[in-house]
Amino acid sequence: MKTLAERVKSGQFVYMTELVASGLKREAQVLEIASKLAMIPEIAAGSITSYAGGQLGQDSIRVGTAVRARGLVPNVHLTCVGQDRATIHNTLVQLQALEMHNIFSISGDWPKAAARTAVFDIDSVQLAAHIADLRAQNGTPFFISVAVSPFKYQREDCLYQYVKLEKKIAAGADMAITQVGWDATKFVELKKYLDERGIKTPVLGNVYVLSRRAAERMNTGNPPGCWASDELVAVLRKESEAPDGGLQARLERAARSVAVLKGIGYAGAYIGGTHDARHVTHIIRRAEELAPKWEELFEELQYGKKDGFYLYKRDPQPKSTRTLLPTVMDAAGKALPFLPWSKNVKDSPVRRAIEGVFRWLERHPRLSHWFERFEYYSKKEIFGCQNCGNCVLGHMEYICPQTCPKQMRNGPCGGTFDGACEVIDQECIWVKVMARAEASNTIDQLKVFVPVPDRRLTGTASWVNFYLGRDSRPGRPKELWKAGGGPGRTLAIEEDEKLQTAGPPAADKALAARTAKPSGKVEKAKEVKKVSGPVEKSA
Ligand code: SF4
Repeated sequence: MKTLAERVKSGQFVYMTELVASGLKREAQVLEIASKLAMIPEIAAGSITSYAGGQLGQDSIRVGTAVRARGLVPNVHLTCVGQDRATIHNTLVQLQALEMHNIFSISGDWPKAAARTAVFDIDSVQLAAHIADLRAQNGTPFFISVAVSPFKYQREDCLYQYVKLEKKIAAGADMAITQVGWDATKFVELKKYLDERGIKTPVLGNVYVLSRRAAERMNTGNPPGCWASDELVAVLRKESEAPDGGLQARLERAARSVAVLKGIGYAGAYIGGTHDARHVTHIIRRAEELAPKWEELFEELQYGKKDGFYLYKRDPQPKSTRTLLPTVMDAAGKALPFLPWSKNVKDSPVRRAIEGVFRWLERHPRLSHWFERFEYYSKKEIFGCQNCGNCVLGHMEYICPQTCPKQMRNGPCGGTFDGACEVIDQECIWVKVMARAEASNTIDQLKVFVPVPDRRLTGTASWVNFYLGRDSRPGRPKELWKAGGGPGRTLAIEEDEKLQTAGPPAADKALAARTAKPSGKVEKAKEVKKVSGPVEKSA
């Protein structure tokens, strides 16, 4: 059995199929499907998700092992949902022991079952970096796939997807897989973005066999990150009137998409939306027939957003201008490079003097406590500080990462809809981060790797932690994969403390109420909150 890495390296067009091991499917059924898919020689791997649409499914490691026994190379999805770093590390150790080396490192959907109790300790860039570290330390040939969505039609959201992909690749990713989408111009956009930067990382395009019902759900942004245009929905409604319910048309669209991906130079196709080996075989064979006329088909696969953002087209969404807060903070950080938010912290007598003061302060618990309160309250109103103790405001354009419900520190997940958060009614915080960076021509600075925070420092003064070298920050990461994890906070501290006894419904209400006032754009995207369907959001 050839490994996935070997198949990808060979330069041949690679096919991967998605196997949704949802809770609704019996494991025996999944394995029967795997046996049939294993008979298709073009299939390089079966990508096993157990967390589609935010719903817990079967154990993907157990399914992966059984799938492999049936001759199909497994690519196991590893999400950052519902587990802290120690649990994720243990999973990786298990995968290592089982010699399951193909891992799809993703943030994952917000769990449907819980609002307040969701645990997001690390993000997908930190996860990719950790897998790459294990590979380097132990020589385990992990092959890391990561997700990217070019199908973002809001300017900053789209730009950040590409920046985040660069971060994932720099962290050690071997291959990227796109989100679902039916817009060939966007497929080209991503390819061109990487080519312009000399990035040769192979990319698989997502080819989803789209039914009318799934399209109608995606039309409202469900599952998060998946979107189908009104025009595409109208076409599918018409097709579904055919005697076969539109099956032939669906398969043909998928085959045409594969042909287009081949034509524009993608490394392969990631086929989802069907588990039927006959359908998959049909798509592959038909795509081969269609390949010579991919340019014609390219013009058909244009179900994007008319007024949406396209990087290489006339831009309907001009970039923002620099605002006062980041300008002042940046100027202070540059003039006084010993400040905690300075991007280029330098050692100096002043810095050492402040360190001395904080060491003295540490010996006086009452004073220490009041200083921590002072820092917290002064940052709370301006930045929404939640006292994480590992302040990275200076690397995030002065937007607090703790105000992201998923606790991301390296960029947005793939679940946004028109720049709105997947979880709560607020603009995605990363939209603002990108807008500020673009306004000051410092997008490249967002490519810095932000390491996992030391969550044991939650509730302590980050300024003290900074001067005493205790926090985990870019350029000074701590080794924190066996300890230092935890759920982080998704609520402001006082609220959280009050809610300890209030019970989940009150907590959920407060979580929603905590949000910033929705912008016009967010209002437009409000209907997206009900998640459903078997498509896993790639983040
Ligand atoms: S200390 Fe942590 S929670 Fe507070 S502003 Fe900085 S990053 Fe945000």
